[in-house]
Amino acid sequence: MKEFLTLNPAHMTSAITLHARPSPTFAAKLLEAETVLAQSATQLAPLTQASSLGAEDVVITHLINRLGLYIPVFVLDTGMLHAETLALLAQTKAQSKVPVTVYEPVHTAVVEFVKREGNEPMYKSVELRKACCHIRKVLPLERALLGQRAWVTGLRREQSTARGEVPLVDTSEARAKVNPLANWTWGDVWHYIQLHQVPYNPLHDQFFPSIGCAPCTRAISLGEDFRSGRWWWESSDLKECGLHSTPHASDSSQVAASAQAHFAEGDVKGSPETVRN
Ligand code: SF4
Repeated sequence: MKEFLTLNPAHMTSAITLHARPSPTFAAKLLEAETVLAQSATQLAPLTQASSLGAEDVVITHLINRLGLYIPVFVLDTGMLHAETLALLAQTKAQSKVPVTVYEPVHTAVVEFVKREGNEPMYKSVELRKACCHIRKVLPLERALLGQRAWVTGLRREQSTARGEVPLVDTSEARAKVNPLANWTWGDVWHYIQLHQVPYNPLHDQFFPSIGCAPCTRAISLGEDFRSGRWWWESSDLKECGLHSTPHASDSSQVAASAQAHFAEGDVKGSPETVRN
């Protein structure tokens, strides 16, 4: 099958070597992810993939393209992304078969906020960090999701304790959230990247497992939690930016019931109970 992106040989370094370790049930998990995406594309449309261009998200975008599904992708460009992330964004936009749309914060809101709070408000207090995330991420996300019945994310159970119960299809909020890699391990993600030679952010080769804005992301040490490189100066229970904790869907209150019906028990092959390490 023709690949939609080409691999930069310079990226074939440590992240793949370090992490590509498929779990014994990888084949079942791959089938599960493909099934969930394919069913969602037909039964939960219109839906969109939220991509941070992290390892999980490049896998999902590759799956969408490889399976020929119409699930458009969007990326939030906060204005604070690493140069490496912006380069990968340009490559993805150029090579993806499905549309990749970039959402930015409202320029005047950013200018006013920076004028009032300075260039690095995130380090001053949790409240100011969240205010920055709200302007640069949450509000653009709301625009990206407007009119969407569901969205696809790269959430995995293994990522943090707070994400330990992530379901394949989350209908607990008004807009359904599809998490095709919920049961994948970090080793599974990198195995897929290796298998399909998916281009990825070279920051992963520099021990950045989770990549966000430049001022709020750092490399981690061996044994540290995946999310410990994000907002590392804050206590761990505060480390969400609001992207995965806001309803965002006052315009689609009937979606949850509808999605629940589409994904009734037994509808999705390979439930979380049957696919585990
Ligand atoms: S992650 Fe940091 S720079 Fe990015 S929006 Fe949040 S506080 Fe601002």
